[in-house]
Amino acid sequence: MKQIIFYVFFQEFLVYFCPMQLLDGKIVSQAVKNDIKEKTCLFTRAGKKTPHLAAILVGSNGASETYVASKVKNCEEVGFKSSLIRFDENCGEAELITAIEKLNNDDDVDGILVQLPLPKHIDEEKIINLINPDKDVDGFHPMSIGKMVQGLPTFIPATPYGILLMLEHYKIETSGKHAVIIGRSNIVGRPISILLSRNTTPGNCTVTVCHSRTNNLKDICLQADIIVAALGIPEFLKADMVKDKAVVIDVGITRVADASKKSGFAIKGDVDFANVAPTCSYITPVPGGVGLMTIAALLMNTFTACENKYK
Ligand code: NAD
Repeated sequence: MKQIIFYVFFQEFLVYFCPMQLLDGKIVSQAVKNDIKEKTCLFTRAGKKTPHLAAILVGSNGASETYVASKVKNCEEVGFKSSLIRFDENCGEAELITAIEKLNNDDDVDGILVQLPLPKHIDEEKIINLINPDKDVDGFHPMSIGKMVQGLPTFIPATPYGILLMLEHYKIETSGKHAVIIGRSNIVGRPISILLSRNTTPGNCTVTVCHSRTNNLKDICLQADIIVAALGIPEFLKADMVKDKAVVIDVGITRVADASKKSGFAIKGDVDFANVAPTCSYITPVPGGVGLMTIAALLMNTFTACENKYK
C-alpha cells in the first residue's frame, strides 16, 4: 500500500514539476511489436499457423499506398504472412465483393483489411459489412462496434486501440479525468470517446465529444485534462485552447505542401505542437506518435484473430 501511495505521489510530482514528456510512438510501437513477434514465434513453434493479414487496396492514392506498404512491411517484421490484393481505381463493386467473400472463406487468412477511403462509386459501408466479423481486424464492422460499446471482447478499431496502448504504456491516469475528443468519426473520434468512458483502465473518463457544430470549442478544451484531436485540420489546436499540464493526443495526419522536402510535402498533425508542447504534461508528436501505434494495434488484432481460431 505504501508503495502504491509513493508511486502515485511520484507520478503527480513528475507531472507537476517536470517539463512535458513526449509520448513516443516509436518506442511504444516497437515494444508492442517485439511482444507480438515473440508470441508469434512461440505460437508457430507450438505447431500453430502463422498469422496472416490480407489487405485490399483500390486505386493508387499516394497516402493509401504508403499506409498499406507500411502495414505489409510491419507484418513481415513480426513474422506474419501478408497478402496485398490490388484493384484498379475503376474496379466494380462486384469485383470487390467477390474478393472479400474469397478471403472470408480462406482458412489461412486471419485478418482482412480494406484500405479506406474507397473510390466514390463504391459503397464503403456495404464492403465493410461484408467482412467476416471474426476477421475484422480494423474493427469497423457494426458487430465489432456494437460489442465494443457493450464492453464485450472484440476487435477495437486500430487507432483508438493504439491510443489506449500508448496511455497504458506511460501509465497515464485517466480515471475521473475530463477527456475532450475533437472529431466524431466512426474510425477515431466516436470509438475513442466510448473507450475512454468505459469502466476499464485506461478509461473511467468523463467524456465530451466535440465536432464541426460545437459552440465554444475553446472553452470546452480549456476544461480538458486529456484532449484527443482527430479532425484533420493541421495545427488546429492552439496553446490558448489547452490548460496547463493537460495530456494531448494528436491523431491528425495531413499532407501539407512543403517545397523544402524531397517529397514535396510535410506531415502535419491537428495540434500546433511547437506552442502547445511547452504547456502540457504529455503530448504525441506527428509523425512518430499515434500513426505508429495504429499499425501496432492492427498487428495485435491480427494476432488475436489467429489465436481465436484455437479457442
Ligand atoms: P473525418 O474527416 O472522418 O472526421 C473529422 C471530424 O472532425 C468530424 O467528426 C468533424 O465533425 C470534426 N471537425 C471538422 N472540423 C471541425 C472543427 N472546426 N471543429 C471541431 N470539429 C471539427 O476524420 P477522421 O477519419 O477521424 O480523421 C481525422 C484525422 O486523423 C485526419 O487527419 C486523418 O488523416 C487522421 N487519422 C490518423 C490516423 C492515425 O493512424 N494516426 C488514423 C485515422 C485518421
